Amino acid sequence: MALLQISEPGESPAPHERKLAVGIDLGTTNSLVAAVRSSVPEVLLDETGRALLPSAVRYLPDGAMVVGYDALATQAEDPSNTIVSVKRFMGRTADEARASGARYDFVDAPGMVRLQTVQGEVSPIEVSSHILAQLRARATAALGDDLVGAVITVPAYFDDAQRQATRDAARLAGLNVLRLLNEPTAAAIAYGLENAAEGVYAVYDLGGGTFDVSILRLTKGVFEVIATGGDTALGGDDFDALIAERVAASLPGADRWSRQDRRALTVAARAARERLSAETHTAITFQLQDGTQVDSPLSRAQFEVLAEPLIERTLACARRALRDAALQPADVKGVVMVGGATRMPIVRRAVGELFGQTPLTDLDPDQVVALGAALQANLLAGNRLPGEDWLLLDVIPLSLGLETMGGLVERIIPRNSTIPVARAQEFTTFKDGQSAMSIHVVQGERELVSACRSLARFELRGIPPMVAGAARIRVTFQVDADGLLGVTAREQSSGIEASVVVKPSYGLSDDEITRMLADSISQADADARARMLREQQVEARQLVESVRAALAADADLLDPRERAEIDGALQAADTAQHREDVEAVRAAVQALSDATASFAARRMDRSIRTALSGRKLDDLT
Ligand code: ADP
Ligand code: MG
Repeated sequence: MALLQISEPGESPAPHERKLAVGIDLGTTNSLVAAVRSSVPEVLLDETGRALLPSAVRYLPDGAMVVGYDALATQAEDPSNTIVSVKRFMGRTADEARASGARYDFVDAPGMVRLQTVQGEVSPIEVSSHILAQLRARATAALGDDLVGAVITVPAYFDDAQRQATRDAARLAGLNVLRLLNEPTAAAIAYGLENAAEGVYAVYDLGGGTFDVSILRLTKGVFEVIATGGDTALGGDDFDALIAERVAASLPGADRWSRQDRRALTVAARAARERLSAETHTAITFQLQDGTQVDSPLSRAQFEVLAEPLIERTLACARRALRDAALQPADVKGVVMVGGATRMPIVRRAVGELFGQTPLTDLDPDQVVALGAALQANLLAGNRLPGEDWLLLDVIPLSLGLETMGGLVERIIPRNSTIPVARAQEFTTFKDGQSAMSIHVVQGERELVSACRSLARFELRGIPPMVAGAARIRVTFQVDADGLLGVTAREQSSGIEASVVVKPSYGLSDDEITRMLADSISQADADARARMLREQQVEARQLVESVRAALAADADLLDPRERAEIDGALQAADTAQHREDVEAVRAAVQALSDATASFAARRMDRSIRTALSGRKLDDLT
């Protein structure tokens, strides 16, 4: 397996030789850009000295566009043309976007949702590219024009479609993507954990719209992400929504409010929640369009009652990630807190209780990810700080495999394997003279293809004619550093090859991932039984085919009584291969193989004799 070797021996280059690369945290709520200058990573500020760029884009009727704070300032006036939290729609379909509860004019489009605005339809990729372009402008203003590229962070749970959409957005913004980096891994780098004591660390990242938890192992200065979990539809926004619901429920007529009024309520709810991180009492205050002033008191204690179920969901993800890594909370040496929403005292308390220790909160939780990405970008651009020699590993969230006979899944790369990774396995043909093989790539934890997600299909054609089982077809799965999958099938004797790069047209929602993982556990017994049955059925089919071929070639070796016996067993096995009773299928296979045992021996003798005829003993040695 190829690990990603980032470091190279040698001195840090002289300042004038330094290549400039930036790290970008493209957040659901806020985005940042950071760079290593004078050996330290720092967040680049806008012209008024602000670090955060709210991930908001407003489209104006005159064709102009406003990004960041200016877009946020007017969002209540023009909610349907002010796009916030667009990261939630990256690589998603319109139905998935609607299911998120967000209120935009979603347009069904092939592959990915589009949003209707006053400037026409825009895709989430375009909206994200406007945010990235703003950060790129900030970077060139601070560093000059020779930007070699950027490392862009994504939640560890992002699937291939979401990662690809992020890359596309960066390209559209004119950025050269050095690589995509998982956010929790970036945070660990920012904390300099590679210099810390060896052992296991956890990263808990609660942002505005996404939750990520990662378990990292540090060995000899090498990071390995040994498990990940999370929810790309859980963050500060959801806590805001709970507060907003509570306020709306207490006010008559709220169900008839305009979009603007609802947006104003959400903005006020968030402000109140953020104040509650420092204060114990506050109020949600805002004005309705008709001039009515709303002023609804909320205490921290009341908020924490509302928040409890969401906190519990994050803890469940953390426990599951620990389970995946076969670890106990007490095995964790340190817990890194990331994301603005980890400022909520209830979060720090709950995480502290789960891991039995005070979480690390020294660095600004908004900036950690961007700072780590900047360190990584600096390394990839070829600038190495003295003493830097670490490697970086990431993992894939769901197993990748192939469909085999009987609709079964052959797992090639198990979930939580570190990437980049390449695995190959040999397959063979099922029928004599088979000239094509269809390859079906699936993702998931279940034994049956029907319960997994289909990623791609392709065919390997032109296999030279051979008897069943003689062809050797090597299928290679390769996941690159960005988590994108390439699958190649190659017939070994002729060298013919076919391949596919998986760039799924739509993403997999977190609910689906969670369901797929949960099902794989709850259905494990049923799956094992189903696998046994399918394997038995495939064996029956294979045996029936090969006995038929043998009869066609060498029936003269049999007397009529033997022939009748074989025909009977063959008929029974042919019927049995469709039965759902594993024992019945097994019995029929056994009967047919018993009935043909002496026939097989005689065929063997004959073929040896044929092979030997006309050859001298000397030739055989
Ligand atoms: P993202 O990674 O999704 O862009 P951030 O890490 O920037 O998100 O976090 C944004 C979230 O942090 C928002 O939900 C915001 O309300 C929340 N947040 C910021 N400051 C505070 C605070 N003082 N108390 C509670 N939540 C906060
Ligand atoms: Mg974040």
